[in-house]
Amino acid sequence: MARTTGILGSTGSIGTQTLSVIRELNSHPESPSNPHYSVKVLSCGSNLKLLESQIEEFRPEAVCVYNDEDAARLSEKYGWLSVFRGESGLAACAGQSMDLLVTAISGMRGLVPTLRAINAGTEIALANKETLVAAGDIVMRRAEEKRVRIIPVDSEHSAVFQCLKSAFAGGKASVNKLILTASGGPFRGYSLKELENVTIGQALSHPTWKMGGKITVDCATMMNKGLEVIEAMHLFGMPPEKIDVVVHPQSIIHSMVEFGDGSVIAQLGLPDMKTPIKLALTYPYRGNSCGERLDLTAISGLTFEKPRTDVFRCLSLAYDAAKTGGTLPAVMNGANEEAVAMFLNGRAGFMQIGRAVEEAMEAHMKASNGVAGSSFCQKPDLEDVLSADSWARDYVRRSMICP
Ligand code: MG
Repeated sequence: MARTTGILGSTGSIGTQTLSVIRELNSHPESPSNPHYSVKVLSCGSNLKLLESQIEEFRPEAVCVYNDEDAARLSEKYGWLSVFRGESGLAACAGQSMDLLVTAISGMRGLVPTLRAINAGTEIALANKETLVAAGDIVMRRAEEKRVRIIPVDSEHSAVFQCLKSAFAGGKASVNKLILTASGGPFRGYSLKELENVTIGQALSHPTWKMGGKITVDCATMMNKGLEVIEAMHLFGMPPEKIDVVVHPQSIIHSMVEFGDGSVIAQLGLPDMKTPIKLALTYPYRGNSCGERLDLTAISGLTFEKPRTDVFRCLSLAYDAAKTGGTLPAVMNGANEEAVAMFLNGRAGFMQIGRAVEEAMEAHMKASNGVAGSSFCQKPDLEDVLSADSWARDYVRRSMICP
């Protein structure tokens, strides 16, 4: 029995770890709880060399790349392979018939392909939180209509997904709140003044997790945790008031659920993304791991702090966006993606990220000038979300240009 999979963003951090989990799962004997995993679809941005080695190892039926030149090179080299290109190619790839799609690309680019896969009835292993932040209502509604399961790969959400199984017969009614843990990132304990002068290199050195550039900067601003609050809201149908964030620098407890009787159930493990990736692939079974195990006696302590929302404004902005809903989370997300890209290109300072996001959100709530996407919409459709996103990016590009 084979399980067909696809990976959008196969050369990134989650993509390469997914392939190594597949390699490991396929090395065990096949059984009903451990089928053979075949890789049908791969996609990448610019790391063509790594994609080629993945093509040779996993023999997918289709791949998608960003530019014409790369597509032509792959078509010539692998005559048997269907090669797609660009945004529309990515959506077409995602819409191919398969059992499970791992959405491991970063940013809003994941939204349309994820919807296309849901339309095709493909189960989603969600590693692209921006999709739910920008268009959670639309995506979750579509998944429900199509009876498609969305399994979180984000470590916090994978933890909540597991802890919620302890709700017993009471279901969601017995849940009091979700508690998402945050490492606090590289600037935990910094003052506002110290944050003004931090460098790209400092923002990119995360203390506990090794990840791609965009998410690592999001961790440094704590926007990542804000995005995760909105992601949790949609995945688990909880209001933002019932989702707490606690800073836990050791990243051993991946998140918790507090039930009505006061019991708190937590999921623990070493900070290794292969664990939630494997769970998303093998669910409802748990695969085995031959990797390092958690040794509680080797940990000096597990500590918890309140997040400092006065310093890390992005987290409060995300709660505001979550409470207001409509197009505001899409604007926040689009503005953040643009501002982070500008920071990574050296065109903006670290503290400008949060300021740009806040300004875009304020402008969006006030605007009524008729420019597409500029003004707030409470019940957006996909077009409204996409134009709010591009308006926000545009707004940030214009407002962040140095005088
Ligand atoms: Mg996470």
